[in-house]
Amino acid sequence: MAQHDPRRAIPRTDDLMRLPEVLEATQRLSIAAVKARVRAAQDRARTGEITPDAVADELIRTLEERGASLTPVLNATGIVVHTNLGRAPLSPAAQQAVEDASGYVDVEMDLDSGRRSKRGVGARQALLDACPAAEDALVVNNGAGALVLATTAFAFQREVVISRGEFVEIGAGFRLSDLMTSTGAVLREVGTTNRTHREDYAQAIGEQTGCVLKVHPSNFRVSGFTSGVGISELRTVAETAGVPLIVDVGSGLLHHDPALPEEPDLTSALEAGADLVIASGDKLLGGPQAGLLLGRAEIIQKLAKHPLARAVRCDKLTLAALEATLTAAQPPVQQYLHADPDHLRVRAERLAHHVTQAGYRGISVVPHDGRVGGGGAPGVPLPGWAVALPEMVAGALRTGSPAVVGRVHDGACLIDLRCIPEHDDDRLATAVIAALGGHP
Ligand SMILES: *Cc1c(COP(=O)(O)O)cnc(C)c1O
Repeated sequence: MAQHDPRRAIPRTDDLMRLPEVLEATQRLSIAAVKARVRAAQDRARTGEITPDAVADELIRTLEERGASLTPVLNATGIVVHTNLGRAPLSPAAQQAVEDASGYVDVEMDLDSGRRSKRGVGARQALLDACPAAEDALVVNNGAGALVLATTAFAFQREVVISRGEFVEIGAGFRLSDLMTSTGAVLREVGTTNRTHREDYAQAIGEQTGCVLKVHPSNFRVSGFTSGVGISELRTVAETAGVPLIVDVGSGLLHHDPALPEEPDLTSALEAGADLVIASGDKLLGGPQAGLLLGRAEIIQKLAKHPLARAVRCDKLTLAALEATLTAAQPPVQQYLHADPDHLRVRAERLAHHVTQAGYRGISVVPHDGRVGGGGAPGVPLPGWAVALPEMVAGALRTGSPAVVGRVHDGACLIDLRCIPEHDDDRLATAVIAALGGHP
């Protein structure tokens, strides 16, 4: 019977590797990648998904697919900093800077003298120019890395005094409190979920205090009977104790933005008396993933020398992108945040018109609020418009080319143009019409 098992007819790896198309592919792809695709094609025949004589064609097809698994996406959700879509899109200047820095680059060399130089000088200077309230700045891998570096440097086996109203869980189940205690800081919780007073902090201060920490509840809101303690009041508490006041503002807004009245910013936090402020580079700043630390010179120098600083160091691509984000014109995140609702409506109507022209009826333009998203201005609506499509096209849009991610809501797939560069409007229209093609 075994002779008749069709799986015995599955082409052998060696034979597949000798096919001209496969040999050609090894010029572009690593041997490991080619072999993985060979195995995947053979496995599909083993499970009966394809017949053994279809293995070679299946393999050749998969060798032609894009090598990378990360697919560029048109973000039609209206959510500006979309965590699942890579948070901030880089500005054209930052993209160019990344490309320029991707080869050999003088990241730690002074080309005039040929000697070793400090790392990240340009990014540091750009941060200080953008935020003159800071005496010095340090860039690390991400916001979480910045927080763990700061709390470890100032409160290892000592206490971080923090309000119970500021215990934040960020994405994927990670809690900032666990992060801080994981490297040896001890949390000294004060106040309650909804109310914390100055005396709560004052009473907690003692021999063991390493720092006072204020964390912006960047992804939730507590309303009703609430009260917190502002930075300027905490300043005096920290000063009395002789410990630094650290403020994690989260979003990386450089200056106050009237469009987001409740959102804290780096400059205001420093001016109000923070010794050190912490933020992410890829939220409202609109740059690469990075952790930003700005503040008093001696504090930044202490952090830069801490052994942990080496473990949370960021790479040359991040430094290049951050510097370019800060020195070039408004990055996309800021443009999308401040997009003119009337213009969004014009673009949405143009898209609806294209789709209607292509023969689809009942396509409407509806008011739609965008959101800041991941770690910023929770609950703040960004008024705009969206094209309402049938809900069932959402899947075809996501798997189309270009991939389009809309917002499935209330039985519709909403296409919000806020976070789509206007020069992509035609590609978007083509993608929408193609996706509707499967659902006339
Ligand atoms: C987002 C956020 C962090 C974590 O920053 P990452 O860059 O995601 O590591 C820390 N604290 C606050 C308040 C945040 O909003």
